[in-house]
Amino acid sequence: MSTATTVTGVCPECETDLTVPPMVTGETLACPECMLTLRVEDVRDGVLSLEMVEVTLRDWGQ
Ligand SMILES: [Zn+2]
Repeated sequence: MSTATTVTGVCPECETDLTVPPMVTGETLACPECMLTLRVEDVRDGVLSLEMVEVTLRDWGQ
């Protein structure tokens, strides 16, 4: 029996190991290494399955 106060995941882009407070499916976080937005696809035994979120950067220039 363990009470996890953090969960872990691996960035699918840069493979950085991430340790974050418990999250639920559908939440997003930003990878501190590559700054990509990652969405939690699944949580199992304190391990997050993360998927990159396509972020469309709007060009506000002319
Ligand atoms: Zn990353």
